[in-house]
Amino acid sequence: MLSKDIGIDLGTANVLIYVKGRGIVLDEPSVVAIESQTKRVLAVGEEARRMVGRTPGNIIAIRPMRDGVIADFEITEMMLKYFIGKIGAKSWLRSPRILICGPTNMTSVEQKAIREAAEKSGAREVFLEEEPKAAAVGAGMDIFQPSGNMVVDIGGGTTDVAVISMGDIVTSSSLKVAGDKFDAAIMKYIKNKYKLLIGERTSEEIKVRIGTVSPSYVDKQMDIRGRDMVSGMPQTVNITSEEVREALQEPISHIIASAKTVLERTPPELAADIIDKGIILTGGGALLHGFDQLLSQELLVPVLIAEDPMHCVVKGTGIMLDNLDKVARKHMGTSGR
Ligand code: ADP
Ligand code: MG
Repeated sequence: MLSKDIGIDLGTANVLIYVKGRGIVLDEPSVVAIESQTKRVLAVGEEARRMVGRTPGNIIAIRPMRDGVIADFEITEMMLKYFIGKIGAKSWLRSPRILICGPTNMTSVEQKAIREAAEKSGAREVFLEEEPKAAAVGAGMDIFQPSGNMVVDIGGGTTDVAVISMGDIVTSSSLKVAGDKFDAAIMKYIKNKYKLLIGERTSEEIKVRIGTVSPSYVDKQMDIRGRDMVSGMPQTVNITSEEVREALQEPISHIIASAKTVLERTPPELAADIIDKGIILTGGGALLHGFDQLLSQELLVPVLIAEDPMHCVVKGTGIMLDNLDKVARKHMGTSGR
């Protein structure tokens, strides 16, 4: 058996696992379906996600880290162990070292729970790393030079903004406004305007397919189905990109304000580097149409979308694993066994 290292992006919306030499071996939603009475786990990941909004009363689909905090330890641990188990780590990896990127504001109790879950899954050593650093590294930035790098990672539950230099975070903010809040805003807009109730998944689909925050006009539309609040019957309504832009205005303004604040608090030399290099967008929210343009217009700084923005964090864990000796002891909390 080989001793290989594993990198995990424990995201609020998706969990990804990278194995040295193999690449990304798992990419699944952070969802667990349980039976509400017995608390018995029925499904994890993709299978559980298919149940969201479609479960009978006795089954609930839970996203245990929904808001960027670990709302449910037991379920998070269970999910992490399940995923590590799913890649068969125990059979073909001999006590791997595991590097995990979890939500930015994890408490020490949460960190301990994550560590223990990874150790129980067979890890020899567990490293926890801050997500924005891994995101920046995975986006191809050389964060170890004495130069400013700014990354905005928009996930499901949180938006993390950070300026990094010489391997450390200089200024940052973590905001509980991201993809989920976009979906909720679309849902609310449609409810108010059309008296139509739609589910989370429909709302996300609208965002992905026709959503925009672009400063210029976008001519897209789609028919959506929901339940009419007045008649209680199924109803179809046509929605345009312009309506989605209006719906997203509020949550987006919070993200822009947060990025602005971080940039304002950044020392001038580093800010100058950022103006040269541009701000890098990572996470699924980086794919929201027009956000790069809008942010650039508001901050007067170039903005670039990372390649494969949803893979940056896990790719970053992979690169950091390769440099564990250089990076680990200095910057990461470790736990040995
Ligand atoms: P996390 O790191 O919190 O697990 P991800 O980086 O995986 O989150 O991003 C998930 C979020 O990205 C979800 O809210 C999802 O709806 C959103 N997303 C994915 N693709 C797109 C897209 N093309 N346009 C807008 N949002 C998207
Ligand atoms: Mg993430």
